[in-house]
Amino acid sequence: WKSEDFPWTKKLEANNRKVFGNHSFRPNQREVINATMSGHDVFVLMPTGGGKSLTYQANIPAAYLSASMEWAEQQEIFRELMSDTCKYKLLYVTPEKVAKSDVLLRRLDNLYSWGSLARIVIDEAHCGLGILKQKYPNTPVLALTATATASVKEDVVQALGLVNCIIFRQSFNRPNLWFSVMPKTKKCLEDIDKFIKENHFDECGIIYCLSRMDCEKVAEKLQEYGHKASFYHGSMDPLQRAYVQKQWSKDEINIICATVAFGMGINKPDVRFVIHHSLPKSIEGYHQECGRAGRDGQRSSCVLYYNYSDYIRVKHMLTQGVIEQSPVSIGTRRNSLVSSDRVLETNIENLLRMVSYCENDIDCRRLQQLIHFGEKFDPIRCRKTCDNCSKMLSWIEKDVTDSAKQLVELVISTGQKYSTSHILEVYRGSLSQIVKRHRHNILDLHGAGKHLAKGEASRVIRHLVIEDILAEDVRKSDIYGSVSSVLKVNESKAQRLCSGRQPVILSCVLFF
Ligand code: ADP
Repeated sequence: WKSEDFPWTKKLEANNRKVFGNHSFRPNQREVINATMSGHDVFVLMPTGGGKSLTYQANIPAAYLSASMEWAEQQEIFRELMSDTCKYKLLYVTPEKVAKSDVLLRRLDNLYSWGSLARIVIDEAHCGLGILKQKYPNTPVLALTATATASVKEDVVQALGLVNCIIFRQSFNRPNLWFSVMPKTKKCLEDIDKFIKENHFDECGIIYCLSRMDCEKVAEKLQEYGHKASFYHGSMDPLQRAYVQKQWSKDEINIICATVAFGMGINKPDVRFVIHHSLPKSIEGYHQECGRAGRDGQRSSCVLYYNYSDYIRVKHMLTQGVIEQSPVSIGTRRNSLVSSDRVLETNIENLLRMVSYCENDIDCRRLQQLIHFGEKFDPIRCRKTCDNCSKMLSWIEKDVTDSAKQLVELVISTGQKYSTSHILEVYRGSLSQIVKRHRHNILDLHGAGKHLAKGEASRVIRHLVIEDILAEDVRKSDIYGSVSSVLKVNESKAQRLCSGRQPVILSCVLFF
């Protein structure tokens, strides 16, 4: 799709320059356009900010239909759509409208029968629009999403009835976003105020809150601290919401305290920070909400304030069904045939993954997120742009073959009947009662690992277990069922190690 010239190539290049003012295409944009223009069904997985909208719109006469419009206004658009001389080339509709409006479907039927329904674009592809491919099988579908994990992708492709579709998928890593998790204390709002003043004074940002009341409280407090802040949530009337959005896009306010209802379709390129005032409901949602920062490619911050009691609170709200869902999860829920128990179970699993993310203060944040999207990521590429990686001085590779050999010898010479912790004690030179009782203090290897940093010897053992050179033989040690494990040696693999044919290398992290 890349190198070929198509009949539309020249126009495409010109439009990209003239209409959008871009110098070049971003990854996959040109390829997606070529594939859809060639008449294929296409499925695009691209992170928020990747530039999906350019693949299906330009400055052509367009209209939109949504439930929040005045009735008369809707009628006017329907009338225009039904006329032979309809001036619109592109119609934006919500999924609900497609499902509910007979007038609209009749118009689409007409267009289809005249061969004039050129394309169906499903942005933020959800499962519920399968009817379109059934009714209009010859019209190519372009489905785009910023959220699908590998398994969701299969579901969506199938539910939409896409045929032999071409899939474009690109990394969900957003190098210009900086990720961190901060402890949430009683002083959280002061911390947020300080963070913004120190790092993003007078810049644009979104603060995601859990409840409508939280949005209002946080906005009020930030106003007191002197910020131009406002709130946005589902129980405001559409006019009020539209007003806030407008103020925000014109930079009259620069901080919006919002529930996850805010964000779909928000296309402000210079959002410099996304703060989560409470625990997001899933990694997927978190990634998408953070994705609203830094669409222009400039460095932007994503800070999550976490405490465990928020987990309890969110879980309670999920159980009670009183939580504002993002449109993504609404779509999934409405269209799936699974029972509500199963939905709740999945929601709680997702929430628990988010808790592990917050509590994991070692692994690269990008790595933790991208694993969720089925993507491999080498944390070296993070370049200290997350809290966990910036704690580290560097990764070093350390040859620990000598220690590994000594530990294997120690396990053999003590008869393969002691636990990891006992072997470690002997190796690091402990003179505890137990060590003495077993006369392990007189062994040659007693204290041979004194020089190793704390935890390093145990990492060597863990590595040997993963490499299958040692095995932890787990057994019930007493009638109460408590479990202990004994280190054993895998003879053939140990021989390779001891004969020097297999070096043991550990990746170590040096902390500040
Ligand atoms: P998505 O829909 O994938 O979240 P958008 O289509 O809203 O992303 O694009 C995000 C931002 O990137 C917008 O500000 C847009 O103008 C800009 N953009 C898109 N394509 C290009 C390009 N080829 N070159 C420069 N900027 C681009």
